[in-house]
Amino acid sequence: MASDAGVRTATALPRRVAMLSMHTSPLAPLGGRETGGMNVYVREVAARLAALGVAVDVFTRRASVGEPEVTPFAPGARLITVTAGPKSRIKKEEMPELTATFADGVEAFRAREDLRYDVVYSHYWLSAAAGAVLAPRWGVPHAAMFHTLAEVKLRARASESEPPVRIEAERRLVQSLDRIVAATEHERRLLTQIYRVPAERVAVIPLGVDLEQFTPGDQAEARSRLHLERQGIAPDARLLLAVGRIEPLKGLDILIRAVAQLNERQPAVLAIIGGDDRAAADVAKLSALAEELGVAEAVHFLGSRPHEALPDYYRAADVVVVPSFYESFGLVAVEAMASGVPVVASRVGGLASTVADGRTGYLIAWRCPEPFAEKLEVLLRNEQLRRALGAGAAERMRAYSWDAVAAAVGALLGALAVEGQTAASA
Ligand code: UDP
Repeated sequence: MASDAGVRTATALPRRVAMLSMHTSPLAPLGGRETGGMNVYVREVAARLAALGVAVDVFTRRASVGEPEVTPFAPGARLITVTAGPKSRIKKEEMPELTATFADGVEAFRAREDLRYDVVYSHYWLSAAAGAVLAPRWGVPHAAMFHTLAEVKLRARASESEPPVRIEAERRLVQSLDRIVAATEHERRLLTQIYRVPAERVAVIPLGVDLEQFTPGDQAEARSRLHLERQGIAPDARLLLAVGRIEPLKGLDILIRAVAQLNERQPAVLAIIGGDDRAAADVAKLSALAEELGVAEAVHFLGSRPHEALPDYYRAADVVVVPSFYESFGLVAVEAMASGVPVVASRVGGLASTVADGRTGYLIAWRCPEPFAEKLEVLLRNEQLRRALGAGAAERMRAYSWDAVAAAVGALLGALAVEGQTAASA
């Protein structure tokens, strides 16, 4: 009966959840080397789970001396900063040996506050390694989301390299978890095929978008609010936009090559949002490529922008391009579509399920510039088509709300907590 199911879902919510986000804080500025979709996910899901009545503590590693230990960031959701290793930003490569110390710090906080967590929900393999210490210690279930998996990245772009410690840890962790949350059916298949995880231990819950913030809007008004001309972009330019962390897996080299081809037939400007000081080497390489191809003046690196500023950037764009070699989900594409802009994206990972080819934009099967240039030209030459695909995109994205994601995560974690209590009392 529907009402029974409703009651079960409501009563099955866990009371208190420990979310682990060891290597990056959900409150850190976005667009840096290590800050992107996962940070948005942890922040949004924690806040919205808390809004459903779940007490949520998110634990992250202290990356500077001044950070307070406890930062409430939404009613019922707190960020807890735990010291493990140097109180400064360190490379991810230095973190594997700190996972046990991080777990000890989380336990020390829990013991001091005399709390009982019903379930651990870890993010990225480093947190899953810490969670694998904590969950058995607390006698509670452990769920995790990997966000990216080393073996999948290595298969996606030949030049990628991942440390053996990560590859081995992920192979071990996927077998020890009570549940893995995958963003798409495609990721579930990868987990079953590459990692041999039984399908029933993988739950598919997508990521979401703030449908009140990312809404369609007038392009000219968005452009004037952004003062694009002050950023070197003419107010009436045909504008392509790429947003995200700047790293080779994002395929920006392919996009710059596509812009060079496109510009021979249809002038366009490319704005790239994202990147912090640690992306300087990658930005320099991409700038050199643009220079070499004679399109340096058409390619603008705007640096990272706060999440709140992005709706206007999407609205200002004619097309958002996501030329990645892999995306486990690809929030940028979803945000852009929710903002009513067509997306041209690689047919990889989550992008293949969020972008509807020919209805919300185009999916490109090959990681090479020609097909990107071809579809971008079609779109830039046809305003009516852009409007139609943009409207289709906004409509399709109504299914992706963070509230729905949090409800699904809450139900999953609640069911796991009940299983855990049953197992403990048996
Ligand atoms: N983002 C941002 N400012 C930037 C760059 C990125 O707010 O300067 C946000 C972007 O809006 C999106 C997230 O970072 O929410 C990137 O997520 P995505 O899933 O596209 O990529 P990932 O970082 O997970 O590889």
